[in-house]
Amino acid sequence: YLPTIYGITPTYSRLAQKADLTRLSQTLMHVKNFHWVVIEDSTEKTKLVANLLKESNLKYTHLNIKTHRTKHSTVMDINICLFKTSLYNTSWYCASGVEQRNLALDWLKGYLQKAEDTRGVVYFMDDDNTYSLKVFDEMRKVKNVGVWPVGIVGGMRVEMPLVTDGKVSGYNAWWKPFRPFPIDMAGFAINATLFLEHPEAKFSRKVQSGFQESEILKYFATKDDLEPLADNCTKVYVWHTRTQKPSILNPKKLKRPPVPDDH
Ligand code: UDP
Ligand code: MN
Repeated sequence: YLPTIYGITPTYSRLAQKADLTRLSQTLMHVKNFHWVVIEDSTEKTKLVANLLKESNLKYTHLNIKTHRTKHSTVMDINICLFKTSLYNTSWYCASGVEQRNLALDWLKGYLQKAEDTRGVVYFMDDDNTYSLKVFDEMRKVKNVGVWPVGIVGGMRVEMPLVTDGKVSGYNAWWKPFRPFPIDMAGFAINATLFLEHPEAKFSRKVQSGFQESEILKYFATKDDLEPLADNCTKVYVWHTRTQKPSILNPKKLKRPPVPDDH
């Protein structure tokens, strides 16, 4: 018996989107009992993503919701956001994927309520990370919340939970080590059934950057409850890789005339 893995992936339109989604979808084609929930950050579903999903032969659900950047943020947040954008990397300061992941969780609850078999595990997957097939084997062992190391993240080669006698005793994290759970989104999975028991569990735009993981984990676990996987958190099976923003000629003419890579 293999529990279903619900992989939740927000995605947005950009030059490397099709390349990133191609790589990820072709990894996922090797994973059994996998259901990919892809949520576009857009007002309409795009043909690019629709076609890519259709051609993948994966089991998937295609959703969309546009991030409303100003809705929940004050003018100051926006200024900080713009200011930091120019100096550092945007996403560390402006949470992305919040509305998209929450929409996916709403979909999941509705789906599981009607499902005969509610067993499964939820994994939040960025579209540009690198996933070893081994990470999927690990997350199927999750009882409530499982954790494991993530490579190349938070200024470290590896950010990871520290394990003593089979339990998480602390974390090896350099970036904001005071986070309640200093764990990257790629470093944990949650039993899907728990989302039915805690329907209020969701991400929030109101927390500071880097606290999204803690925001969702707090509904399900304390440090003592975390289940260390990947050989007591000694193995790296996922990397927070980031695709470099490409520079191309005539970026403004990207969309017109159509290019062969449009859909
Ligand atoms: N994302 C999104 N809308 C945005 C920016 C990002 O939906 O405006 C998605 C993105 O496709 C990815 C996830 O949110 O799946 C995390 O974003 P990103 O990979 O840029 O974050 P980082 O790697 O910088 O932490
Ligand atoms: Mn990323």
